[in-house]
Amino acid sequence: MTATHSSRMIILGSGPAGLTAAIYAARAGLAPIVVQGIQPGGQLTITTDVENYPGFADVIQGPWLMEQMQKQAEHVGARMEWDHISSVDLSQRPFRLTGDSGNVYLGDTLVIATGAQARWLDLPTEERLKGKGVSACATCDGFFYRGKKVIVIGGGNTAVEEALYMTNHSHDVTLIHRRDSLRAEKILQERLFAHPNIKVLWNREIARFLGEGTPEVLVAAELRDTTSGAIERIDIEGAFVAIGHVPATELFKGHLELDSDGYVKVQTGTTHTSVPGVFACGDVMDKTYRQAVTAAGTGCMAALDAERFLAEMDFESVETHLLQEA
Ligand SMILES: Cc1cc2nc3c(=O)[nH]c(=O)nc-3n(C[C@H](O)[C@H](O)[C@H](O)COP(=O)(O)OP(=O)(O)OC[C@H]3O[C@@H](n4cnc5c(N)ncnc54)[C@H](O)[C@@H]3O)c2cc1C
Repeated sequence: MTATHSSRMIILGSGPAGLTAAIYAARAGLAPIVVQGIQPGGQLTITTDVENYPGFADVIQGPWLMEQMQKQAEHVGARMEWDHISSVDLSQRPFRLTGDSGNVYLGDTLVIATGAQARWLDLPTEERLKGKGVSACATCDGFFYRGKKVIVIGGGNTAVEEALYMTNHSHDVTLIHRRDSLRAEKILQERLFAHPNIKVLWNREIARFLGEGTPEVLVAAELRDTTSGAIERIDIEGAFVAIGHVPATELFKGHLELDSDGYVKVQTGTTHTSVPGVFACGDVMDKTYRQAVTAAGTGCMAALDAERFLAEMDFESVETHLLQEA
């Protein structure tokens, strides 16, 4: 049996952006429905220590933080639906979304908070050592590698920025790139090459990560020379995979404006997308900061923008009604 759910606001995604939007919208009396997707709680549920989310003096766990956010959203009146949206119709209001379950969601407004997934190398050893020395976010995890020898993998802006960022914590940072030149902006490259604590290993890719101990932690990586195929070992304690992100926007192609990297375009300083009544927040519209606190911040903005949009719509329809009666 499939069902149709209607709300003044449908929120797609249950990471920090979606759940913060839900808290604000519920407290504004909009009774939002959050469609959680296949990763309820979002990306923070796959990490352990979180030390940079304000409000907690001690280190907290990512899954715990997201559980608290969900409970808070439910406590103030948001409704959670465990479904993954597979098609959307944004051509008229209410917007119509259909889930894998066959259920239909109708919303006077839509908040898109579907996030962006980090690209990984897809090595079996990488999967095993994620969170145990292998990370995809230096800003998030760099602090845990103070004074340790680390590598950063990639050749674009993100990789160079992450390598530069890691010099705040480590005196021994090596950038590993599979080609003999970087794609990053010239200015970033200049900063990288001028930094005394960063070296670059060209034409190398990761063959595998090596772990030791119980519990197992990263101790080295095997590098393959992309020209000769030769293998060498580098002893390290941290590895940051910085080969880009993929915003979860496949669903919206052709329905609203995306930028050349696939992120949802919003009007500067707001969460308004190219379709009136559709708002975007969190990593799906932000390729610069990509942090839980910035996702939560834009989630708040999206709920407030949507609330104002609805208030204007309601005012216009009352006015039209009164004019028709006069
Ligand atoms: C390993 C790791 C560690 C990190 N550590 C930190 C840290 O310490 N501090 C920090 O500030 N940040 C950290 N980050 C970054 C942080 O997790 C993200 O910036 C943040 O989660 C983005 O929030 P979001 O709500 O925009 O998206 P996400 O958290 O990515 O959530 C996206 C949501 O959208 C849902 N979704 C996607 N597609 C659909 C669909 N079609 N239908 C329905 N739902 C859908 C998913 O199920 C998910 O619930 C870390 C990230 C990773 C990967």
